Amino acid sequence: MRVLCAAFSREEVTAALRSSINQVRVRVLSGQQRELPDFVSDEFFSDIKNAVELGRANSLRRVINATGIVIHTNLGRAPLAKEAVEAMTAIAGSNSNLEFDLESARRGSRYDHVEALVCELTGAEGAVVVNNCAAAIFLCLSVFARGREVIASRGELIEIGGSFRMPDVIEQSGATLVEVGTTNKTRISDYADAITPETSVLLKSHTSNYKIVGFSSAPSRAELVSLGHEHDLTVVEDLGSGVLVDLAHIGLPDEPIVANVLRQGVDLVTFSGDKLLGGPQAGIIAGRRDAIDQLKRHPLLRTMRIDKLSLAALEATLRLYPPYADPFTRVPVLRRLATSIAELHARAQNVVVQCRDIEGLRTDVVESVAYAGGGGLPQQDLQSVAVALKWEERSTQKLADWLRQAPIPVIGRLEADSLLLDMRTIEDEDIAQIIEALKRN
Ligand SMILES: *Cc1c(COP(=O)(O)O)cnc(C)c1O
Repeated sequence: MRVLCAAFSREEVTAALRSSINQVRVRVLSGQQRELPDFVSDEFFSDIKNAVELGRANSLRRVINATGIVIHTNLGRAPLAKEAVEAMTAIAGSNSNLEFDLESARRGSRYDHVEALVCELTGAEGAVVVNNCAAAIFLCLSVFARGREVIASRGELIEIGGSFRMPDVIEQSGATLVEVGTTNKTRISDYADAITPETSVLLKSHTSNYKIVGFSSAPSRAELVSLGHEHDLTVVEDLGSGVLVDLAHIGLPDEPIVANVLRQGVDLVTFSGDKLLGGPQAGIIAGRRDAIDQLKRHPLLRTMRIDKLSLAALEATLRLYPPYADPFTRVPVLRRLATSIAELHARAQNVVVQCRDIEGLRTDVVESVAYAGGGGLPQQDLQSVAVALKWEERSTQKLADWLRQAPIPVIGRLEADSLLLDMRTIEDEDIAQIIEALKRN
């Protein structure tokens, strides 16, 4: 313990010892444990050392996502591309030209760094970026609909995880929601009949995390745009995920592409930076020049402004899209979605081979089902491959706990009586860490 006190501090070691002895006391009193541990053993020493080290670890830590859900909101959504991480690192510890125009030596705008790029990739006339998509929608409605009416279909009054409910956001923005149609059917005439002199926005939302199937219909985007413009209304579409390239070939045919939506005449679209776009947390608003300028002038923008690190990562991520690069090899979210079954099999074999000498562990390569997540359709499953793990002596739940408590936690998926590690959401570089987490004692 003297060694530990020297390496860490007396206070930390004392706290770890107290907590460990307390745990033993609880187990002995409850009859779970009969004998006292050997307080001078290497094992006890190593437990205390682990506890002290864990006490020093940051609360927010890296984990390995082996769940098969590519964009997992609880696990930090999109991992950034190497290029985005480098861009963040480059400005994180230095000053930057965040709001300084290097050409004129005058004050510049943080919003200028990515606007031209977003416009180039989406065909928008203008764009502004805030800290997430919820803020983007809130800003649009506050600016264009406060004190006025917003018309939205009852089939599109979405709730996204984490209590983001469209009716609440509309209300909070100071606008009045006018619901039209029914859950399964809304016609263009429903919108037309609801327009009054108080109407200011027609709102369309991408129902990304559910689908109404069967006897259902909604007006086309073109119909909605033409109705809106006839009455001088702003047509806003919340796209959620923000897709810049066609994803049909990787099994996501229902995701609207931003450029297509804007080409059909929608005035403003909103989308996330950290879903299918594969970048940092951000909310991007793109569309008509005059509407974007109005958003930029509004004082509320300041309360939701994007920070320099996210901005750096976003710019670098956007540069991984055509015509600059191939996002399916460079952007981790898209790369994971696009990985072939053959590659996933090879990765699984690699894991199995490296697990061979771990005593008491059974491994099997099995077929699995992965999901895009992050608002992507839950029923839009992607074929995948997993390594199914089982301990001979102990329960699978214990195995899941053990991996989750590793220095770099590994989060798998319990299915039947195995722990599945889905190969679609890990990288080859993660395998060494997974093996380490299994082997540690
Ligand atoms: C995810 C999502 C949002 C919220 O985006 P955040 O970036 O998490 O704030 C809004 N609308 C839709 C349709 C979404 O899928």
